[in-house]
Amino acid sequence: MSRVKSGLLKSLSAEDRDWLSQRFGRSVFFDEPLGTHTSFGVGGPASALVKALTVKGLSDLVQWTGEKNLPYFVLGKGTNLLVRDGGISGVVIRLSGDFKLMEEEAANDGVLIRAGAGVMLAKLCSYAVKKGLEGLNFGVGIPGTVGGAILMNAGTHEGCVADSIREVRIMDNLGTEKRLAAEEIAWGYRTMDHGLESKPGKPVIATGGSFLTKPADPEALQKQAKKHFERRKATQPQGVRSAGSFFKNPPGGPSAGALIDKAGLKGKAIGGAMVSPVHANWIVNTGKATASEILALMELVQEEVLNKHGVSLEPEVKIVGT
Ligand SMILES: Cc1cc2nc3c(=O)[nH]c(=O)nc-3n(C[C@H](O)[C@H](O)[C@H](O)COP(=O)(O)OP(=O)(O)OC[C@H]3O[C@@H](n4cnc5c(N)ncnc54)[C@H](O)[C@@H]3O)c2cc1C
Repeated sequence: MSRVKSGLLKSLSAEDRDWLSQRFGRSVFFDEPLGTHTSFGVGGPASALVKALTVKGLSDLVQWTGEKNLPYFVLGKGTNLLVRDGGISGVVIRLSGDFKLMEEEAANDGVLIRAGAGVMLAKLCSYAVKKGLEGLNFGVGIPGTVGGAILMNAGTHEGCVADSIREVRIMDNLGTEKRLAAEEIAWGYRTMDHGLESKPGKPVIATGGSFLTKPADPEALQKQAKKHFERRKATQPQGVRSAGSFFKNPPGGPSAGALIDKAGLKGKAIGGAMVSPVHANWIVNTGKATASEILALMELVQEEVLNKHGVSLEPEVKIVGT
């Protein structure tokens, strides 16, 4: 197939397909449409989508892509992703199997929960709530995986990953797994910087994290979680295809949603993409949107907000593919 240089999606060579099929068997899918793997429901195919089930399998895959000079991309649950209509050239990796395990461990200052990057964040957080362990309540309603949440430093105004994570397990782009203490990482608003070499086509992979929780009253935690859910239900669009908030809130100013709303853009549509009438910072796929329509609407919103309020909105959603 064309290597990193080409912008066009190409299928893998027969030799590359053979290697992947032999090594990963039924966990490899060729020319896999990514619309079915993203919450927006849009996006072209990946040359191959591979489910890595073990650290060894993941490491072999990363090393092989290195030898072949093939790009790879890590897909979590696809809830913060806009994949362009041309798809992703190269190998899209999804963490499954062993990466879906969770375990508890007593620590001096509380209880550590170790979760693989493939565990759903909401599952980890509800587990903690049920067990009467405080520290992860912020994430009960956030979709996506632990790996995606670590990379995005996902959170709400009630807290974020950085507040409770103590250690991140990471695989570098040569296939070696390392442990980083949370203090070695620069955490920001929906960002984290691990300081390791990472570039498009050869990113670092989060393989898991350990979160510190403290014993607390389970009933009080459950009440808090319920309130949190109800607030989300009352303020966020329900049952729509989206990636949640599309733009980051600008520092120190009105929220992105308030700026878009004041610019009169609620309900604005291009093709099947629409600025949600419920929450202006959500772009939704009303049924048959393409990634190009969502991108065109994104640009229109950026332009209008810049003209009306002088503020540049930066997408929180990761835009990938060709
Ligand atoms: C309805 C809805 C509500 C939402 N509400 C919130 C909210 O309240 N707060 C919030 O912060 N976010 C929210 N989001 C956005 C999204 O859920 C989070 O950003 C989530 O953490 C993304 O996880 P994911 O597994 O889906 O990642 P993906 O969307 O699959 O990937 C996101 C990025 O992380 C990278 N990535 C994923 N996994 C790994 C890994 N293991 N190693 C390396 N890189 C990886 C991907 O390459 C990509 O760049 C919402 C989304 C939706 C659809």
